[in-house]
Amino acid sequence: MRALPASVLAVCGLIASACGGTGTGGAASGQAAPATSVEQTAAEQTPTGQSPAKQSPPDAKPLEGKVVVIDPGHNGGNYRDPKAVNRKVNVLTKWKPCDTTGTETNNGYTEAAFTFDVAKRLVKLLEARGATVKLTRTSNDGVGPCITERAAIGNKANADAAISIHGDGAAPANHGFHVIMPKKINGPVDKVVGASSRLGIDVRNAFAKGTGLPYSTYVGRNALDYRNDLGGLNLSTVPKIFIECGNMRNAAEAAKFQDPNFRQKIALALANGLQHYLKA
Ligand SMILES: [Zn+2]
Repeated sequence: MRALPASVLAVCGLIASACGGTGTGGAASGQAAPATSVEQTAAEQTPTGQSPAKQSPPDAKPLEGKVVVIDPGHNGGNYRDPKAVNRKVNVLTKWKPCDTTGTETNNGYTEAAFTFDVAKRLVKLLEARGATVKLTRTSNDGVGPCITERAAIGNKANADAAISIHGDGAAPANHGFHVIMPKKINGPVDKVVGASSRLGIDVRNAFAKGTGLPYSTYVGRNALDYRNDLGGLNLSTVPKIFIECGNMRNAAEAAKFQDPNFRQKIALALANGLQHYLKA
């Protein structure tokens, strides 16, 4: 509906990240296995009189003790306050706008609404698996926060993993998803570049498996891209990635993103990818 200026879309393309997740199945499903008796009866003991190998209860809370920060890209109210959103902030390698409005599908489903919905679904899945989860924004009708603050939230939480969720706004024929990971910039992010790369690959694998979406046809290699111009990555001191879940300007992917069942698929794939990384 609301036409976004080409310049805004271009900026978003630079800032947006991909959505991904690696599903590894099994414990990653978030489903608690049926409880098995942990009490051994005498008859179950081995002939030597020793108990058989202690059977652990199923790992119903595999992410207990882990902290995950989820950053739904953009915010639904950003268009209302261009002055605040366009304020330049220092992302170490350059100055960039504090945030952008993000892109949207041709029929007006916004990236901000998409990322926020996926994030809420992801929170539920991760919390069910025992993780402590923090969002960088808790509604889709506000403004910001700035990309600098989005990174700071992950740092302050000392997150074991952080993920920024986006949908891209590329030329309509382009399609597929990609993950963006940080590069060394002779800055604080350098120490988590390696861990972020492992996180990115786990999420890439789970996202492909869980959503069936192809690797990006237009960015990166095998859905992996490395950048040093994103504030959300440059300023992170915890393992962090961006995911561009697909191209919202591509008709087929736009239709998928507007289907709640598909957004649940995306969230599940992301949860599985995060879990694969966190349990490694
Ligand atoms: Zn974006």
